[in-house]
Amino acid sequence: MDQQLDADAIAALLARDRAHAWHPYASMTSPPPAYPVVAARGVRLQLADGRELIDGMASWWAAIHGYNHPLLNAAAQAQLDNMAHVMFGGITHPAAAELCELLAEIVPGRLPHVFLCDSGSVAVEVGIKMALQYHLSQGNRDRKRLLALRGGYHGDTFMAMSVCDPVTGMHHLFRGALPEQLFAPRPEAPFAARADDAAVAADVARFEAALAAHAHELAAVILEPVVQGAGGMHFYSPAFLAAVRARCDAHGVLLIADEIATGFGRTGRLFACEHAGIAPDILCLGKALTGGYMSLAATLASERVSRGICEGEAGVLMHGPTFMGNPLACALAIASIRLLLSQPWQRRIETLEQGLRAGLAGAAALPGVREVRVLGGIGVVEMKAPVEMARIQRLLVERGVWIRPFGKLVYTMPPYIMQPDDLAALTGGIVDTLQQLETGETG
Ligand SMILES: *Cc1c(COP(=O)(O)O)cnc(C)c1O
Repeated sequence: MDQQLDADAIAALLARDRAHAWHPYASMTSPPPAYPVVAARGVRLQLADGRELIDGMASWWAAIHGYNHPLLNAAAQAQLDNMAHVMFGGITHPAAAELCELLAEIVPGRLPHVFLCDSGSVAVEVGIKMALQYHLSQGNRDRKRLLALRGGYHGDTFMAMSVCDPVTGMHHLFRGALPEQLFAPRPEAPFAARADDAAVAADVARFEAALAAHAHELAAVILEPVVQGAGGMHFYSPAFLAAVRARCDAHGVLLIADEIATGFGRTGRLFACEHAGIAPDILCLGKALTGGYMSLAATLASERVSRGICEGEAGVLMHGPTFMGNPLACALAIASIRLLLSQPWQRRIETLEQGLRAGLAGAAALPGVREVRVLGGIGVVEMKAPVEMARIQRLLVERGVWIRPFGKLVYTMPPYIMQPDDLAALTGGIVDTLQQLETGETG
């Protein structure tokens, strides 16, 4: 990699950025530090000054094959030579048709109808809209609310915000401006707990109480199956998920599974619903869908849901973004999914899981650490107190590691292609940094 900039060019870039570019969850009056990245290849990000960082974030779960992958580059180039974009209203194209068929084939259960959209949050909006329209078309005007789990995260748009954790979620600020949804307690039984475990029974009883009290006004339950991501990096028992599926059916409530973070192998199954052997009525996908190349998301619906919507008063699903079914993004999604499925991806995730367990184990003994947990390609160190983001980030970058902690959570979900030596350097950098912070050294 050879995109290095000199000191003046770096200073100019950062000045421009600070003056004009709003970053995620960032201030414009006191902008947080930003590291200039000029190239990325494999599992490495190259900083403008020439330093390289091992990427432990996969760009927020997305870059599962690493960066600058020759097969994905070629797929983008080939599609570009035909067309980058064409509208999807009244027009179709090979990439969209193939992608929709492929998604319908690989997801759990039968969800044959695929709505392509631009981002995860929009996929959640569409999933919720599907659920509301479904019940309306059944003549059920009362079923307009959602039941979500505490500790969840479903995106930044308004309806998606309304189902994020109401207290610790990033959006409690907007309470009053958001539709008021209902929340069930966060399931606490751990991933390994089975259906006959008392902790699972307790989780299910609490959920059932929340569901039964409001079932008549609920359109759907929405949840992240097995792994709650940005709301707390929390893992729960698949037995709970299986029980939720059964309870939803018993109460005539739809189940929306938000697999935007967990989809495409991250938890060790292609989709996290598979841990519980269940299928949702509506499924949201995003993040890793294009292997981290472009923003694309999808909402899949069962035949029952799509027929309900289309036989109802409106007769159509009331949604249609401008860039719906963007051919470039669809071509990348096809290439990324086929690349994933052509590889021994399960073995890779198992190797990642073992490496994360071994590499992060040392953090468990640190006095400031509450818990270390690993599932599939996700490694989490939960601290007892929130970390100082800018400081920890600087120390990590000095060790050649890129992760982005938030609150009490120091976590990593590396690209699946990461080799054992890089993974050891990544986890070693995390543990050493936490140790250094505890001993109060400034580095
Ligand atoms: C990231 C995420 C979203 C939102 O996706 P965006 O592409 O950021 O809009 C929704 N749900 C879950 C579970 C996510 O992890």
